[in-house]
Amino acid sequence: MKDTFGRTITYLRVSVTDRCDFRCSYCMAEDMTFLPRQEILSFEEMERICSAFIKRGVTKIRLTGGEPLVRRGIMEFIKQLSEHLKTGALKELTLTTNGSQLDKYASQLVDCGIKRINVSLDTLDSDRFTEITRFGKLEQVLSGLEAAKKAGLKVKINTVALKGQTDQELDDLLSFVADHGFDLTFIETMPLGEIGGSRVDHYLPLSEVRTNIEKRWTLTDTDYATGGPARFVDVKETGNRIGFITPLSHGFCESCNRMRLTCKGTLFMCLGQDGNLDLREVVRASESNEPLQAAIDQALNLKPKGHEFVIDETQDGPALNRHMSVTGG
Ligand code: SAM
Ligand code: SF4
Repeated sequence: MKDTFGRTITYLRVSVTDRCDFRCSYCMAEDMTFLPRQEILSFEEMERICSAFIKRGVTKIRLTGGEPLVRRGIMEFIKQLSEHLKTGALKELTLTTNGSQLDKYASQLVDCGIKRINVSLDTLDSDRFTEITRFGKLEQVLSGLEAAKKAGLKVKINTVALKGQTDQELDDLLSFVADHGFDLTFIETMPLGEIGGSRVDHYLPLSEVRTNIEKRWTLTDTDYATGGPARFVDVKETGNRIGFITPLSHGFCESCNRMRLTCKGTLFMCLGQDGNLDLREVVRASESNEPLQAAIDQALNLKPKGHEFVIDETQDGPALNRHMSVTGG
């Protein structure tokens, strides 16, 4: 699958639900209105769409949300998708989670052929954790991380850089991941969705994060790449690697290999643009998969060259009205 800019699409992210047990302050407003059940794709419909993409050359699927592990029946869906791992058509099935349900699910994920997961964790301070996530409990996530480790999952921690918060505990985060054998990636906040407040106050450029870390740790740039937008450095003192995802301060669109499906079947060709196709209408209109394949062709033609969002003092509101939980990042 090649788009009009010659980029090969091999990666589909699927937001399986817009609901979440947390309300992270940079992601959602406190009083969110979630989609009514009937608007959401059934797992059968999601599976049909995923299979259509796999048939066309998608080799990696990431489940995300909202919180993917809070949707009822999620393990059955994961089991179904993992059949494509067995045939070799899919090379990787993974997920991004807030970690709250890992205690319950970590070993079942391993049984389904999942090898690594991303877990979002912005702070190691339990008061700050509850302040950021509004409803979350740090202990629950730490215990989920232990379960993931015990089950043999490779874990990458995603940390959103927040001014006045992340910059207070960079050393703790670096030591924590080194002690547990996790990878760590910092992410800049992106202006997606109304959050009931400003993002400018919390925006912390990763260049500042790096400069701060470099005062005490020895970082060396590496060519290591995961096919995603992160750039990596080696940390001499710990022997592990940390990544930086800088959508605002560096373009990362030239090598974009992905598309994003929301839980209501909307396909976004770019995280930072509103262009989309309604695949729910397509799957519900016909049992044949031909219209679905035609829609995928159309999506390839419509994939834009890049995103257009910025955060600066002149633009305080969201660049797009869609929350991150709609596409799952
Ligand atoms: N609930 C899961 C979790 O938190 O990992 C999956 C969905 S969450 C939307 C995916 C990732 O997006 C998380 O790492 C989260 O920190 C990040 N995220 C959410 N809103 C963001 C924003 N406005 N800017 C940057 N990252 C954001
Ligand atoms: Fe939920 Fe993840 Fe958004 Fe936090 S970042 S509110 S855990 S979807």
